[in-house]
Amino acid sequence: MPRIKKILIANRGEIALRIMRTAREMGISTVAIFSEADRKSLHVRYADEAVCVGPAPSAESYLRSDKIIKICKELNVDAIHPGYGFLSENTDFAQKVADAGIIFIGPSPHAIEIMGSKLAAKQAAGKYNIPMVPGTSTAVTDRTEAKKLATNIGYPVLIKASAGGGGKGMRVVNNEQEFDEQMDRAVSEALSSFGDGAVFIEKYITSPKHIEIQILGDQHGNIIHLFERECSIQRRHQKVIEEAPSVSVTPEIREAMGRAAIDVARSCGYYGAGTVEFIMDEKRNFYFLEMNTRLQVEHPVTEQITGVDLVRQMIHIAEGYPLTLKQEDLSIKGHAIEARVYAEDAANNFLPDVGTLNTYVRPQGNGVRVDDGFEQGMAIPIHYDPMIAKLITFGASREEAIEKMTRAIDEYQISGVQTTLPFCRFVMKHQVFINGQFDTNFVNHYFKPENLTSEYRIDESILAALLSASLMTTTNPLKAPSTDLQAATTSKWRERRL
Ligand code: ADP
Repeated sequence: MPRIKKILIANRGEIALRIMRTAREMGISTVAIFSEADRKSLHVRYADEAVCVGPAPSAESYLRSDKIIKICKELNVDAIHPGYGFLSENTDFAQKVADAGIIFIGPSPHAIEIMGSKLAAKQAAGKYNIPMVPGTSTAVTDRTEAKKLATNIGYPVLIKASAGGGGKGMRVVNNEQEFDEQMDRAVSEALSSFGDGAVFIEKYITSPKHIEIQILGDQHGNIIHLFERECSIQRRHQKVIEEAPSVSVTPEIREAMGRAAIDVARSCGYYGAGTVEFIMDEKRNFYFLEMNTRLQVEHPVTEQITGVDLVRQMIHIAEGYPLTLKQEDLSIKGHAIEARVYAEDAANNFLPDVGTLNTYVRPQGNGVRVDDGFEQGMAIPIHYDPMIAKLITFGASREEAIEKMTRAIDEYQISGVQTTLPFCRFVMKHQVFINGQFDTNFVNHYFKPENLTSEYRIDESILAALLSASLMTTTNPLKAPSTDLQAATTSKWRERRL
């Protein structure tokens, strides 16, 4: 079996670092690639070797598959880990890597291709009796026909781009009058974002929970699941808070969902780490949504509750070894929550807020994990996803994980940009989140910008602790996360608001 000795990480930021850390633990040397905007990034400094792949825009750097493969040849790289985003779900790239005799740490090009199209995925999974959201199984083009189908499905419906991702190309249609306009929008968004205007129609589940199952499969046909992640706290159909396990999943549902996820993976001969996404309605019926053929942003919550390093498993699988983990050996220990720390202004419709991290002090302590790629003084580049960090907490119970998250958010000191931290704190304190009765409409139903002012307060004990820990900087960290416009006189945040 070929042992991988050198890995190139075709990615940047926190995920590049996260992968390199496991590689280092395994005695595998690492090659970073970087754009001109990332020259000083932590992932570049951490790697054993680093190569500039081009100017800041992704199309000229992180997406240059030809250059990346050439670097691998020159540096004798055995394998490429694509992380998430960029080239991670690109069939052509996976094929070119294989053709160049390099190991792709991920599934086969065939599996990526099938699961990259939501329609092809549904067709493949259909062979296994997997519950599907009622809807069309092929692309719709004819409007009159499409409207008939929508009426049969029953409004509200969702028009979705087959090639969609990142919540784009998705339109809710409440009644027939709205249909034409929303269909035009969905098709044009699908064309501009994915170069493929194919759309289909699904029943819009009005109060769903997003629940997904982590799976691992080897190249010998063994597939296991590592339980669920609950990802219903979203804005723009995009996740902000994830947790494992889900409060809404009973052992029976877990088993049924796990089995369905394994069947979805089997339907395309899947190997590597993958995620099968479902939505669950109020009656706890669950339906297959799509499969993501890569390491997921929120994978750490699964790592925390299972004790399994998913990147290590991915590398072993890519080397060709059979899975050493058995389904019956896996169990859930404790509870983990992840808050995505985006440079976004939650009070202003979660719009990106790029700038420089004037203050950047990570929280620490028992049950806290921070996966990030930034340091104080670094700028958040406008060219890429505005995620600064993933803050993960874990405790013996959900209650404990929530308490730790609130404490960790209070300790996290960021100034210079607005972040989603105050919003995440608001969620941790909200009764609907605490009692588990939330769905993907949480933000629309319960969040208003003014909540941040009243809900996000630093309390006296933390103030004292921060002072005694000498965490004060010239930019007052106690003001930085506040949304109190009048009070924040010295912070960069205040300056940016004026
Ligand atoms: P993407 O690939 O763009 O992320 P998904 O199909 O994974 O698209 O869906 C993203 C989110 O959109 C889901 O987590 C859920 O909140 C919402 N969604 C998708 N399909 C439906 C549906 N049929 N009914 C209600 N909400 C849906």
